Amino acid sequence: MTHSFTFNDKKIPILVQPHQRSKSFRMRYDEINETLKVTTPIFYRKKTLDNFLKECHPWIIKQLVRSHDNWVIDLSKYFKVFDQDYKIELAPMKKKGLWENGNILELGGQSPDIKAYLEKWIKQKAHSYFSEKSNGYGEMIHKSFSKVSIRDSKTRWGSCSSTGTLSYSWRLAFAPEEVANYLCVHEVCHLKEMNHSPRFWKLVESLCPDYKDHKNWLRKDGKHLQKLQFK
Ligand SMILES: [Zn+2]
Repeated sequence: MTHSFTFNDKKIPILVQPHQRSKSFRMRYDEINETLKVTTPIFYRKKTLDNFLKECHPWIIKQLVRSHDNWVIDLSKYFKVFDQDYKIELAPMKKKGLWENGNILELGGQSPDIKAYLEKWIKQKAHSYFSEKSNGYGEMIHKSFSKVSIRDSKTRWGSCSSTGTLSYSWRLAFAPEEVANYLCVHEVCHLKEMNHSPRFWKLVESLCPDYKDHKNWLRKDGKHLQKLQFK
């Protein structure tokens, strides 16, 4: 018997997981996998579970609305990229693409593919941000790198390869700028310390004293960035 909850025409599966030590029913929402998980005692009546699921409805809706808001960037309003405000405006007479003009992004061309242009622009933006920052921090610790690459990895925010390539996720452009800055410090420090030893964290701290806050931000709020959508 499988359960699900329908929200905005979307079917959210409910996974029922009986657990040895659990004495009552508990529900949580796994935002990354968009799944509701219910732990139950090993033995329970179907009716009790059904009632529990029913009682949970208002709670479920609250969770879904809250997490949905966090993932959606409304392109008809100002939105932040590395803490700078930008707004998209149509410019059908201009050449195809997204053209930065102060804090206005002019969307050129007839029936333009807004998401594709936006993604390209954000990747360029992220590339120049992380290149400049990586250069600066590299100089501070007397280490150089071969190149900066911008990726969209679901599992990591950045990496530093043994050949000296620094990779960053473009999604960090939508994090608070100091969080993106921390990630940059983190990867650049790997040029010197290819591990997460106390020595590595000391080096990170010397360049970014509040790094623990930013690390926490990524752990707690980073999942919204991974699910980012534009409307
Ligand atoms: Zn690391």
